[in-house]
Amino acid sequence: MQIMKFVLPDSVQKVAEALETAGYEAYVIGGCVRDILLGETPKDWDLTTNATPQEIQAVFPDSFYENDFGTVGVKTRDEDETLAVIEVTPYRKEGNYSDARRPDTVEFGVSLDEDLKRRDFTVNAIAYRPKTGEFVDQHGGQEDLKKRLIRAVGEPKRRFEEDALRMMRAIRLSAELDFAIESETAVAMHATAENLGKISKERIRDELMRILATKEPMAALSIALKLGLLKYIVPDLERGIGIDQNQAHSYDVFEHNVRAMQHAADKGWSVDLRLAALFHDIAKPESRRWSEEKKDWTFHGHEVVGSRVAKKALEELRFPKETVEKVAKLVRWHMFFSDPDQITLSAVRRIIVNVGVENIQELLNLRICDRIGTGRPKEQPFRLRKYMAMVDEAMRDPINVGMLKVNGNDLMTEVGEKPGPRVGWILHALLEEVLEDPQKNTREYLLEKSRILSSMETAALKDMGEAGKGAQEEAEEAELSKIKAKHKVD
Ligand code: ATP
Ligand code: MG
Repeated sequence: MQIMKFVLPDSVQKVAEALETAGYEAYVIGGCVRDILLGETPKDWDLTTNATPQEIQAVFPDSFYENDFGTVGVKTRDEDETLAVIEVTPYRKEGNYSDARRPDTVEFGVSLDEDLKRRDFTVNAIAYRPKTGEFVDQHGGQEDLKKRLIRAVGEPKRRFEEDALRMMRAIRLSAELDFAIESETAVAMHATAENLGKISKERIRDELMRILATKEPMAALSIALKLGLLKYIVPDLERGIGIDQNQAHSYDVFEHNVRAMQHAADKGWSVDLRLAALFHDIAKPESRRWSEEKKDWTFHGHEVVGSRVAKKALEELRFPKETVEKVAKLVRWHMFFSDPDQITLSAVRRIIVNVGVENIQELLNLRICDRIGTGRPKEQPFRLRKYMAMVDEAMRDPINVGMLKVNGNDLMTEVGEKPGPRVGWILHALLEEVLEDPQKNTREYLLEKSRILSSMETAALKDMGEAGKGAQEEAEEAELSKIKAKHKVD
């Protein structure tokens, strides 16, 4: 038996002590033990004990018990949110699994040995008792941590037949920890892959999100494909396998999508963007036509069909509506024309309206992922910075007389000016003052000032108006150079 004292967070230590003082055993267990042994900070803390849920609640009056698995949430009032609730679960022994999802029966309080046997992977089945510093590791978890292996506890095939979600957990953990899946475990996953079809979409979605959020989602999806699991996760993706693209691409459609997604992960971009990258060319297979003229494949309209396919696939996985809409939009507009030397401001405005101003940066990032995913080495950040400068330019309010709190009509009705060029000159003279001091842009001040200007002779007023126009142009230019400086373009 191995004894080694770990410094645990105060709250964890206290919960364990309270249980031991009340005469029960308390072990820290599962992912948090694995994480400490790896030198990482656990995301949550689990304890296991020989006390029943009722006995646990008697020790911790400030606790809640709202499930069928025996897990009691103990409130610690710790400021660290990973420690605010510590989950304490009685040792559990599980009965038969007849639906590949959940045990038919759960028994509490049998023994730690039984509890360790029901756990999914050896690295998750190490227990540590704070009171004594004792490690209980009956399935070789520490050995596998050293070898960096995900290995099922017990007989792998049986374990996956019990609960098929464990297969996704294996892939997710291997991606999170950068561990390999031990070969017998992998063989069993391949053999029982079909059972994943019985798992609820919500649970699959949660694991998929976590896979995408890791640093190596490409490796994880490749394993899922190899083991025959991918078709139960995102079936649409497999359609791109073996579909060659045009000469600009080094990879088939599947690999291109996956590589684009991996680039989003490399950049640390959002999971939404990773999803959009994964789906962006999903409909290329059905949109592919041979062009005699180009002697190459074309994919007209694949972004329109692809957007629908992505939407349906994500809805099936019960993704939140906002995610579905956002990904569908990004896929729909990923072919946007982006040459900053040729595009007009009004075209940029249309893209902004289509994809939404809140998504425009991600649309550009998707373009970067798309490029990198073809196997072309460069991101071309310069062109995209130029494009972003155009976006800012298209979005800002122009500097002109329209921004004044009075208009030509006011000058005629309130001040008595006659229609004609004098109205324009007065407005430009007002604009010059407002540019100088924006505080002056009030109706009262401008009307008063207009009366003075209105009493002036035409020649003098014309000079003032033209000076105002000059000031307007200068101000415009200054704004544009600010935008360009911000995006480091000229
Ligand atoms: P993380 O907290 O990083 O997701 P974790 O390993 O702690 O990883 P949890 O979902 O918090 O995962 O589960 C806690 C522990 O419960 C696991 O370490 C494992 O021992 C056990 N466990 C969770 N899900 C299963 C399952 N489907 N089958 C068997 N054991 C499981
Ligand atoms: Mg955990």
